[in-house]
Amino acid sequence: MGLIRQLPQEVILKIAAGEVIQRPASVLKELVENSLDAGATSIEMEIEAGGIRRICVSDNGEGMDKDDLLLCTQRHATSKIRSFEDLYQILSFGFRGEALASIAQVSRLKIISRQKAREIGHTLYMEGGKLVDLLETGTRPGTLVEVRDLFFNTPARRKFLKSPGTELQHLFDWVVRFAFANYEVHLRFKRDGQEIFSLPSSHDPIPRIAQLWGNEIAEDIKFIGKSSYDISIAIYLGPLEQTRLKADRCLFFVNKRPIKDKNLLKAVCDGLSQAMPKGIYPQCLVFLDIPPWEIDVNIHPSKEEIRFRNQGILYSMIINSLEESLKKAHFMGEALVQRPTISKEGQGLGRIMEQERVYHIRDTRSETSTPTPIFERHEIRVLGQVKDSYIVCEVKDALLVIDQHAAHERIIYDRIMASSGQQHTKLLPLIFPRPYEFSHLEALSIMESLEMLKRLGIGLTPSGENRFLLTHVPYILKDSNWDELLPMIAQTLSEDHSKRQELYHHLVATLACHGAIRAGQAMLQEEMQALVQEIMKPGIFKTCPHGRPVLVSLPFSQIEKEMRRA
Ligand code: ADP
Ligand code: MG
Repeated sequence: MGLIRQLPQEVILKIAAGEVIQRPASVLKELVENSLDAGATSIEMEIEAGGIRRICVSDNGEGMDKDDLLLCTQRHATSKIRSFEDLYQILSFGFRGEALASIAQVSRLKIISRQKAREIGHTLYMEGGKLVDLLETGTRPGTLVEVRDLFFNTPARRKFLKSPGTELQHLFDWVVRFAFANYEVHLRFKRDGQEIFSLPSSHDPIPRIAQLWGNEIAEDIKFIGKSSYDISIAIYLGPLEQTRLKADRCLFFVNKRPIKDKNLLKAVCDGLSQAMPKGIYPQCLVFLDIPPWEIDVNIHPSKEEIRFRNQGILYSMIINSLEESLKKAHFMGEALVQRPTISKEGQGLGRIMEQERVYHIRDTRSETSTPTPIFERHEIRVLGQVKDSYIVCEVKDALLVIDQHAAHERIIYDRIMASSGQQHTKLLPLIFPRPYEFSHLEALSIMESLEMLKRLGIGLTPSGENRFLLTHVPYILKDSNWDELLPMIAQTLSEDHSKRQELYHHLVATLACHGAIRAGQAMLQEEMQALVQEIMKPGIFKTCPHGRPVLVSLPFSQIEKEMRRA
């Protein structure tokens, strides 16, 4: 007898379900998109325990009658397309008729629905894909879908869900993108019984930017619009002085669909390259309107990636429109082209010396670890600075090129690490505590990390919804621009760090990066001397906290060889 067996239908259905529904966020996405497809102008979302326990979406859309209600949880049952050709004209979000079928397979599902024209509605109950009940129900027009106990009957899959906190993060991530995409739809979002936001419908996304990213950004939004042929682009660009270390606030929408596309992101970065260094990102919403036949959405079940028939035109439109607006802003002397400078004048030697005075940190590593080889304890002669970024030195048998920023970053990082475990991290109380506002998720993360921040010398006091007062800063960073630094810290905190230690490392690295001398900043001879002496101490790692090398060496033997002197 052969080894091959036909899988039971039940198993096939569960496998298929797993492809469409990976986590609570994918359930919410499918449900809400169905509401939009049903023409809803008002949608309410509720989640409990990161959506693992319960997800509920109700809308004022067209509703379903009894027959539709029975059909809607069958695989490949859809009201949205009739033939394969229809795929290339898709205007709706759904079209596969897979979502409800998949959700029904792996949860306890309840759908209440009523069409406006009917007197009465119906409630459908399903469990693990099996029909439990169908009842007549008095209800308002529209549909409510409630999904309980996701993956209750596929324990292996349920195990793969992350903690409610992580799932919540995925949910937030998606909800925010969805809210920006559908600003004309009234949206409410509740989490564990508490209303997180209620966003009235509006004509543009700016009121939502204010609610979700803060007023300060919304007040300073630049609108850039462009259209040619049948493509149009609308970019809402946040102030370029307020940048992010990740592209988490560069959001793209194609025909109202939030999508992810590396090339579009690259186009934005390229378009802004005159005003923004590489590796940091603006805050922007980019809306593309493209005829449906110009795109293929049929490549991924979750439909976050799409294929464009004419990529080149899109990218050059984005780049051109951003470059043009930069030029215009520059011409008019606007702040749009200000370089996001982080450093301040005179932070060089003063700052290094000051840290020396404040922190009498023992270099514990030098006592415990074996000394790192070469250069150390040699005489070092600082020859000078090149490109205002590198310090060139001579040691006994090599030329050293030291990256001033990376070196300083390492020194600050080590100092904070060494001091923060102890009581004597020097706090500088602010005479005038400064108010800051954060997104909801960031505020949650800050609340959870107040103790840790305090250990680092950052004192924050909650002062109302998503707001905090900055009361103390670490002495070592007293001259930093906290209006830039604090949002970066909030961002770091709200990222998904599986380990506490890793989060701590990221935080300190952010502080170090911020406090360190920048590349491109001229240094005095004494400043260079102080920095070089410090970084060359035994036991100090010769990499920055992000792992980049602090120095390269060019042995004289190699120079001699190249010069054919050897
Ligand atoms: P698809 O959206 O791909 O058609 P789904 O499984 O998501 O597949 O939904 C199946 C069908 O159920 C839809 O085509 C639609 O007719 C109906 N439906 C689902 N949700 C709603 C809703 N909120 N309001 C009205 N009809 C709905
Ligand atoms: Mg659908």
